[in-house]
Amino acid sequence: MPPVVPAVTPHGTAVDDHAPVRTAAEAGVVECMHCGAVHPAAVAETACGRCGAQVHARKVASIERTWAFLIAALILYIPANLLPIMTTGTLLSSQTNTIMSGVVYLWLDGSYFVAAVVFIASIVVPVFKLAVLTMLVITTQRRSTWRPYERTRLYRMVEAVGRWSMVDIFVVALLASLVRLDALAMVTPEPGALAFGAVVVLTMFASLSFDPRLIWDPVDTHDTTD
Ligand SMILES: [Zn+2]
Repeated sequence: MPPVVPAVTPHGTAVDDHAPVRTAAEAGVVECMHCGAVHPAAVAETACGRCGAQVHARKVASIERTWAFLIAALILYIPANLLPIMTTGTLLSSQTNTIMSGVVYLWLDGSYFVAAVVFIASIVVPVFKLAVLTMLVITTQRRSTWRPYERTRLYRMVEAVGRWSMVDIFVVALLASLVRLDALAMVTPEPGALAFGAVVVLTMFASLSFDPRLIWDPVDTHDTTD
């Protein structure tokens, strides 16, 4: 049986706040990311005995993969905002909107709540996620020991909003269905919607590829060399 690793955080329930935290790597154990089973470090890079998934001490090529998804998302974010996402209208008149002009249109139309939801889901949340992931991957790549606890919390926030990422797509679907209720109205998706969907999915992949344990590796090695 591998030794039990005490679950302690820098602000957690450690007996002594200044006692060194024993990490899984120091204890010689690795965790299966899929089922949570704890194995001796020798099991790393082989199959998990419980669920059969590949066990890694750290996600493979985490920084490189996160960068790849992140750069693709950042590039596509430009057309996602500049290109129109949909055309709405009737037989007599129609208008084409980008995300931002759509928000302005909804606001001026008096749909304050929908305008606010679209603004938060389509502008605030994606920008927050892209900014946080870029900051995390840069600081981690530079092996920064700056505020690891806060950076880990930021990553958890990105993960937490990740499951709500599709909200923006739902909003577009909701808008489309609302307009369709009017028999003469029509909604046509435009290329911007495709770019926007790609940004959402690529950001989720970037967030999944990032290994938050890498934040703590330079902190732990720094402590032992002091
Ligand atoms: Zn497993």
